[in-house]
Amino acid sequence: MPYCPKCRAEYRPGIRICADCRVKLIAFLEPEEDNWVNFKEIYISYNELEAERIKAFLEENCIDCIVRSMRISPYPINIGNFSEHRIAVDEEKLPEAVELIREAIADEYISRRGTFKDF
Ligand SMILES: [Zn+2]
Repeated sequence: MPYCPKCRAEYRPGIRICADCRVKLIAFLEPEEDNWVNFKEIYISYNELEAERIKAFLEENCIDCIVRSMRISPYPINIGNFSEHRIAVDEEKLPEAVELIREAIADEYISRRGTFKDF
């Protein structure tokens, strides 16, 4: 199975480019990247576009952010419908990121459909 080296999503054989990250897929996933270790998942969005929006929003506020997509369906045909997009930030920036996401929800910049992870 090909994998995206960036978001680690798994794809069907034959697919070459990650639809989310626009990067070339690789045959095997390296063990968890070191930089992921310092990242903590803070929020789960069930909408791919929204996850991207949150990521861009956090990055605008100088918070490094990773979106990790978990395809709930084994075949990512219904991209966006059956997937979780876990947003992780640098652990040190976690309280700041939570605050920003809360504000964005209050401002209706992002929907209330996602969920915060328990810390
Ligand atoms: Zn990707």
